[in-house]
Amino acid sequence: MTRIAFIGLGNMGGGMAANQARAQHRVRAFDLSAATLEKAAACGCHVAGSVAEAVADAEVVITMLPAGPHVRSVYGEQVLAHAPRSALLIDCSTIDVDSARAVARQAADAGFRFADAPVSGGIMAAEAGTLAFMVGCDAADFPAVQAALAPMARATIHAGDHGAGQAAKICNNMLLGVSMLGTCEAFALAEKLGLAAERFFEIASQSSGQCWSVSTYCPVEGVGPSTPADRHYEGGFATAMMLKDLKLAQDAAAKAGASTPMGARPRPSTPCSTPTASAARISPPCCRCCAASSPT
Ligand code: NAD
Repeated sequence: MTRIAFIGLGNMGGGMAANQARAQHRVRAFDLSAATLEKAAACGCHVAGSVAEAVADAEVVITMLPAGPHVRSVYGEQVLAHAPRSALLIDCSTIDVDSARAVARQAADAGFRFADAPVSGGIMAAEAGTLAFMVGCDAADFPAVQAALAPMARATIHAGDHGAGQAAKICNNMLLGVSMLGTCEAFALAEKLGLAAERFFEIASQSSGQCWSVSTYCPVEGVGPSTPADRHYEGGFATAMMLKDLKLAQDAAAKAGASTPMGARPRPSTPCSTPTASAARISPPCCRCCAASSPT
């Protein structure tokens, strides 16, 4: 039994904390939202009244927060001041590399071990305990990080030093955004050329066009394994989340002097007027005409 503090119990963190409690760890959970705390309590977590209370005697602190400013503030103003120095700190949020490195430096200065460990896999994987974690931390700390993440993970990979987990995450998601756009455009063109979607799927998924966006998460209804396309585009990875990740990638590319014109292509646009447009999902884009221009 490990004493875990879990901060941020939203769509992702809720399921992740529940898996830690299910693994018989003692989870003290905190979120600003009362509704998420109620759910966490129903899943076997102990509700804390503040970050300070949650981390007070923690052996492991896990955070799953919206963005860099939340992570800087929760660690800088609360976790580092109230957690025992022996606690292992793991941030699983998707944030910018600079924030991850800044928090790691602050944590090290205060005598803590810290890892950035963003995830691949959505809400269903968070609930099922099948997330893939990409970890940036000192090599010596990786075995402890891996053990702490195990109840939530199907894979945990050491990407490198602090910030490397976030670098891997934004590169991966930029690649996903680009491949999903290409997949949508290819299916839209196939349709215009009179090719049946299921025939094109059968061919592309066994040919050189094969990729996760085609074979596993095909954005066309009734084609391939079940995806949000088969549920009127409900569920799946929200457009806003993908745009956040693509912006992180563009900001990082600008700072690093890397040319990434394909990753820069998607941007918010006015949704078209088809019924699924309001779902505002990138996986898939709301419809094929949106898909042909941008993922929103
Ligand atoms: P979410 O908005 O559902 O959850 C974030 C939670 O953090 C909210 O419940 C919010 O109340 C809480 N929070 C914010 N500030 C806080 C503070 N100061 N103290 C305590 N709690 C605070 O978001 P999510 O979908 O769970 O995503 C969380 C992170 O995971 C994001 O960084 C996101 O990019 C990443 N991510 C999401 C998905 C996905 O499919 N949703 C997939 C991979 C990665």
